[in-house]
Amino acid sequence: MVKLSRTTRKIFCDRKMFINGDYQEKGTRRIPVINPATEEQINTVPDACLEDVNSAVECAYEAFCNKIWRSYTPTKREECILQLATLMEENKEELAMLIVCENGKLVKDALREVANSIRFTRYMAGWATKVYGDTLDVSLTAPQQEFFAYTKREPVGVVAAIIPWNMPLAMAIWKIVPALVCGCTVVVKPSEETPLSALRLAELIVEAGIPGGVVNVVTGYGDTCGKFLVEHSLINKIAFTGSTTTGKIIGQRAMENMTRVSLELGGKSPVIILDDADLSMVDAFIAKGIFYNQGQICAAGSRLYVARSIFEETVQRVVKIAEKMKLGSGLEQNVDLGPLVSKKQQQKVFQYIEEAIACGATVLSGGKIPQGKGFFVEPTILTNVNHGMSVVQEEVFGPVLVAMPFDDIEEVIAKANDSTYGLSASIYSQNISTIHRMIPQIKAGTIFVNSPVRTDPNLPFGGFKQSGLGREHGSSMFDLYTELKSVVITY
Ligand code: NAD
Repeated sequence: MVKLSRTTRKIFCDRKMFINGDYQEKGTRRIPVINPATEEQINTVPDACLEDVNSAVECAYEAFCNKIWRSYTPTKREECILQLATLMEENKEELAMLIVCENGKLVKDALREVANSIRFTRYMAGWATKVYGDTLDVSLTAPQQEFFAYTKREPVGVVAAIIPWNMPLAMAIWKIVPALVCGCTVVVKPSEETPLSALRLAELIVEAGIPGGVVNVVTGYGDTCGKFLVEHSLINKIAFTGSTTTGKIIGQRAMENMTRVSLELGGKSPVIILDDADLSMVDAFIAKGIFYNQGQICAAGSRLYVARSIFEETVQRVVKIAEKMKLGSGLEQNVDLGPLVSKKQQQKVFQYIEEAIACGATVLSGGKIPQGKGFFVEPTILTNVNHGMSVVQEEVFGPVLVAMPFDDIEEVIAKANDSTYGLSASIYSQNISTIHRMIPQIKAGTIFVNSPVRTDPNLPFGGFKQSGLGREHGSSMFDLYTELKSVVITY
C-alpha cells in the first residue's frame, strides 16, 4: 500500500475555491469528495454560488483588461509556464496521490497523467513566443491599387474551462496552458467528483509567477456553478470536455451570447483487426485500449471488429488478459484495474451489461460487480451483440468491450461508421494499401494504425460528428484561444 505524504494529508482537509490568488468561498453549500476505492469521504469543497462565480469571472476579466498577464512579454510568459512545469515535477507525487484519491485510478496511471501534463506544459510554453499571423495578397478585388494586408492573432479574452473527472489534471492543463500561451485569463471548473488536483494546480500556477486572478478555480455542480459560468456575459470562450449530452446544452447556451466554444465530447471508438494483422501485440493493445483507466477514456477502443477467420483466437487472447486482471485500490501494488469514479458511474456501466445480457449478449469474461467496498466493475467482454444494442451504440465509459466478427472490409467500414460518435478508430493490418484505402473512409478525428491509443502535445486532438467541435493540441490551439484579426492598409 502506498503511504500518503504529510503534505498530501494536509491537503485532505476541507478546501475553499481559489480566486484572485487566494482562497475564497461566499456560498454555504458544500460537496463531499469521495474516495472511489473505499467509498469514504475525503473532504468537502464548495458548491459555488452565483456570487462566487461572478467574483471569479470578474477577477479574470480584470486580469485580462488590465493587461496584467498580457503585459508580460512572450518570453516571460514562456518562463512562467516552464516554471509551472518544474513545480509540477517537484510536486508530482502529491498531484498523483490527489488524483488517485479523488478519481480512483492506479498510482502508476496517475503518475503517468502528471508526467503527460508536465510534458504538455513544457511543449506548449514554446508557442508563447510563436503567436504569428500571415501577410496576404489582397489585390484580387482592386488590382489597380496597392495594399498591404496581414492577419494577427489576439487573445480571445476570458476563458471558461470546464473539465471532466476521468483525467482531472491533464484535462485542466490541456485548456489552461494554451489559453495562457495566447494571453487569455481563465476560470476553471473541475468536475464536482474530482476537484482536488485542480485546486492544488491553481496554487502552483501562482507560485510559478503567474499573477493571481489570471487563473481562478471555482468548484461546484454543473447545473449550478457550470451553468453560471457558461451564461456569464464576460466569458468570451468556453473550452469544454465532457459528455456529448452536456456539450450540446453548453453549445446551445454559448450561442445565445455568441461565446466562442470548443467541445471535446464522448466516443465509441472502433478497433478493426483485419485477417492479415500481426497478432503478436494486438491482444495487449486491445485490452489496454478498453481497460486502461477502467475504460473511462474518451478514445477507449470499446467496439472490437475482428475478421471472422481469426475472431475466436483473437477474442480468446483478450479474454485471457481480462481474466488475469487484479482489481483493487489504486494505492495497492500489483493492481491492474481500479474502481470507477463513483457509485453513479458503476451503476450506469452495470446497467449496460445487464441490458445487453437481457437482449441476448454472451458474457465471455467479467460482467459482475465484485463483493465489497469500492465502485468496481469486472473487466467485461461481450459477444453475440446486435449492432443496434445500446451497449454497441452508446458510450459506456467503463471496462466493457463488445466483440463482433466481420466478413469483408466494406462491411466493417460501414459498421465502424454506424455511430453518432467519431473521436478515434484503430486499424490493425500489414497491408499498407488496404490501410490507406480505409483511412479516408472512416469518420474519426484520429486513426491509429497498428498502434495503441496515444495522445501527443503536437498532434491535433478532437472529434468528428457528435464527438465534438474544434481541435486541441499543437498549433491548432491558436484557433481555440485567439481571434484572427485582418488588417488592410492602403499604400
Ligand atoms: P459531464 O458532461 O457530466 O461533465 C463534464 C463537466 O461539465 C463537469 O465539470 C460538470 O460539472 C460540467 N457540467 C455538467 N452539466 C453542466 C452544465 N449544464 N453547464 C455547465 N457545465 C456542466 O462529463 P463527465 O461525466 O464529467 O466526463 C465523462 C465524459 O467526458 C465522457 O463522455 C467522455 O467521453 C468525455 N471526455 C471527452 C474527452 C475528449 O477529449 N473528447 C476527454 C475526456 C472525457
